[in-house]
Amino acid sequence: MRIAVASGKGGTGKTTVAASLAWVWDAPVVAADLDVEEPNLHLFLRPRITGRRTATLEVPEADESLCTACGACAELCQFKAISLLGEVLLTFPEMCHGCGGCLAVCPAGALSAGRRELGEVIWGAAGEIGFVMGRLRVGEAMSPPLMRAVHRRLEEMLARRPADVIVDAPPGVSCPALAAVAGADLILMITEPTPFGLYDLRLAHQAFSSLGVPLAVVVNRAGLGERGVYEFCREEGLPILAEIPYHRRLAETYCQGRPVAAAGGEVQGWFQELARRARELAAGEQEEAAHA
Ligand code: SF4
Ligand code: SF4
Repeated sequence: MRIAVASGKGGTGKTTVAASLAWVWDAPVVAADLDVEEPNLHLFLRPRITGRRTATLEVPEADESLCTACGACAELCQFKAISLLGEVLLTFPEMCHGCGGCLAVCPAGALSAGRRELGEVIWGAAGEIGFVMGRLRVGEAMSPPLMRAVHRRLEEMLARRPADVIVDAPPGVSCPALAAVAGADLILMITEPTPFGLYDLRLAHQAFSSLGVPLAVVVNRAGLGERGVYEFCREEGLPILAEIPYHRRLAETYCQGRPVAAAGGEVQGWFQELARRARELAAGEQEEAAHA
């Protein structure tokens, strides 16, 4: 079972919810931080790191002595990552998407596969919770290939020890966010009852509903008085699985860098109930998929 925790915008409490969900999950679980531009799930789960590997992307390296300046590579590349200036071949590895097309079309064998570092895949465990994350290299713009590397490591971990997965997705609704929630049995959209929260929830709903995966909402900072988010959920038939109000013990636990569910008492109860309802919805989706 795979639960993706997402949000239309940053700062809604997405990682707070993901960390606490993993913390209260009552079955083997891996917490996967796919917010590779700003990973911070580890700050709450504090995993013991047991491995890391560098993720790279295949980019062309040119041997100018073999290049005949035919222009086939430049014509093919949709990203302007390789071009001809007169008879001079120019490559821009930072703009390359690693499709390999230019290497395939070069008739002179002037291009070979080089490597551009994307970042790191890091894994370990926080007690019983398996953990994996990606960290994008500073200055690197392309996160989806690194996210795929995190996914590969995640699959290796699951092959060794089957477990449910809680994904901390990047905020927003661009390609990285969609790549992170792909394959989930349930997408939990975290929002807050403010006009900004409503605006971004609308965007998230629009983007994620095309995936055909059940969607549900968690209202963080509940009780601010703005009702638009609730009305939207009612109109769209979106179940609200939890409302998390401001709470002193929750804030204290957050400031200590711990999953807020570790505050215990009613705070822990909210997340246990959220986990129960999320599991129920995701299991329904799995059942439907099995009968399809
Ligand atoms: S590998 Fe693809 S994206 Fe990169 S330079 Fe070649 S054609 Fe362009
Ligand atoms: S396809 Fe090969 S030979 Fe032609 S311009 Fe590109 S690198 Fe040079």
